[in-house]
Amino acid sequence: MSIDHSKIRWNGWGWTAHKDQLAEDEAMWTWLAGELGMPALLATPARPLESVTLAPSRLTVEDRVRFIEILGAERVRGDQYERAFHARGRSYHDLICLRSGDLSTAPDAVLYPRSTDEVLATLAAAGEGGVAVVPYGGGTSVVGGVTGGHGRFKSVVALDLSAMDRVIDIDAQSMTATVEAGIYGPALEKALQAKGLTLGHHPQSFEFSTLGGWIAHRGAGQGSNRYGRAEDWLVGTKVATPRGVLHTGGFPASSAGPRLNDLVLGSEGVFGVVTEATVRLHPLPTASDYYGYLFKDFASGIAAIRAAAREEIPVTMLRLSDPMETKFYRAFGSLGKKRTLRDRFAQFYLTNRGFDEKACAMIAGFEGETTTVVDERLRFDVLAKKHGALALGEGQGKRWKEGRFHGPYMRDPMMDRGVGVDTLETAASWSKLDGLYIAVRDALESAIRENAPRAGAHGVVSCHISHSYPDGASLYFTYIFPRMLDGEIAQWRAIKKAASDAIIANGGTISHHHGVGEDHLPWMAAEKGSLGIDILRAVKMALDPKGILNPGKLIPD
Ligand SMILES: Cc1cc2nc3c(=O)[nH]c(=O)nc-3n(C[C@H](O)[C@H](O)[C@H](O)COP(=O)(O)OP(=O)(O)OC[C@H]3O[C@@H](n4cnc5c(N)ncnc54)[C@H](O)[C@@H]3O)c2cc1C
Repeated sequence: MSIDHSKIRWNGWGWTAHKDQLAEDEAMWTWLAGELGMPALLATPARPLESVTLAPSRLTVEDRVRFIEILGAERVRGDQYERAFHARGRSYHDLICLRSGDLSTAPDAVLYPRSTDEVLATLAAAGEGGVAVVPYGGGTSVVGGVTGGHGRFKSVVALDLSAMDRVIDIDAQSMTATVEAGIYGPALEKALQAKGLTLGHHPQSFEFSTLGGWIAHRGAGQGSNRYGRAEDWLVGTKVATPRGVLHTGGFPASSAGPRLNDLVLGSEGVFGVVTEATVRLHPLPTASDYYGYLFKDFASGIAAIRAAAREEIPVTMLRLSDPMETKFYRAFGSLGKKRTLRDRFAQFYLTNRGFDEKACAMIAGFEGETTTVVDERLRFDVLAKKHGALALGEGQGKRWKEGRFHGPYMRDPMMDRGVGVDTLETAASWSKLDGLYIAVRDALESAIRENAPRAGAHGVVSCHISHSYPDGASLYFTYIFPRMLDGEIAQWRAIKKAASDAIIANGGTISHHHGVGEDHLPWMAAEKGSLGIDILRAVKMALDPKGILNPGKLIPD
């Protein structure tokens, strides 16, 4: 296996060896308790795996022998750590379950195929034995995409693709690479960058997610404005299905009917297992500039992003925080630091220029050839200032870039202190974006208050825009709240439902890049319509007639 799962947290984020300084920062916890309307925070450590009893595997001896014949005994794993590691993804909901020791969704075995033929043979054996199969990349799904439920099946196995991580071919002339789908982000970029190339797909989960997962959840990296979303860079795939191998795409363009690639993008492992993908590459940028700006309010920042899209300024990323996110990060960054005269002067200057509590921070990123990057940045600088922005310089941008994968590491220390932190995202056309933002923010704030553990407790609801298009943009909400320790799942569900209902009622998509999994299933029919769902069911029937692949995800029953 290319990655040692025992070094990654089974019930949290990141390497087991990682120690976050945040955990020790008592001033921070006192401040956070105040922000959440709580007198103090509680100690709520996760249950260690040694104290959890896992239900015995339901895999029959015959099924196990079949899998061993295909893969060899060392790649059919049934030990406690492997089963626990693959029990769920890494959403807040998943973490509440895992941390409490609820491993009822642990697969009965974890299988590690090494070739498309092995995947095909494994699917055939699973079909014969009535075993459900959950395709598994890095397991960073945040929508219940890899939950190991067996549904109506006798047992369930996780099909972990991480042993399929070879770069098969780099075609420098066509600027494409053909790669096995189980490769993790860092390994893929290392191989490409050694040749002066990049895919440029950097989700915040980059360190622990795989190419197959990016395609199957139809993801977007932080630099999607320049490098595109999965659907922009995917050229073709090889997919192992219970009905045989499906080859999709493979051409720079084609008018031979609908694109089969579109059946794979966002298919969440319910139609087949992506074993290989050909992807479009870019030259490794020679320049990478990230700058900070401050806008007077969210509306003027949004107007600047919209104008940049209209003027086709080739930005790599425009990430605009709403007032709460701006305030929260500023307060967070200055915790424990003494206010200097310089800080006071800066505050006086900002207030005088009209930057008050409604101010919104933006990070603007530009990557590419040195000369074009300078030109793009100057064009955006003029535009931002036209919208009243203040340039904060490269320090802010640099800090963001250096810490861009760090955010998720803060979740475990928060959960150790009785604090919940969850995220959700949506997208809508420009004309609907304001209304959608207000409706979802209000829905989250009310639901958190109504489901708080004590009167007066509330949440911190913040939002940013980080992916924009000519016709609209995404909204990404982060909400921090005191956990209802005697009813955490019900609390999570109530908050999630309120926000998701508000999204659908206000013209947003139920997901911009996280996908559907189990968590967004109740809102799928509203978005796709009953005919749309029928089409997805027909495709499922054609490729996976016994329904063994990832039951309970993507397509409502
Ligand atoms: C902290 C954090 C930050 C995140 N940030 C981002 C972000 O910035 N952008 C973004 O797009 N997403 C983000 N995500 C969500 C998640 O990382 C992505 O959805 C990612 O693409 C999942 O990849 P994975 O390899 O972990 O897939 P998994 O979680 O293992 O699987 C995801 C889905 O794809 C299926 N699947 C996996 N591999 C295959 C395969 N080879 N063939 C068929 N089906 C397969 C699974 O069955 C499942 O349904 C984030 C998640 C976390 C926890």
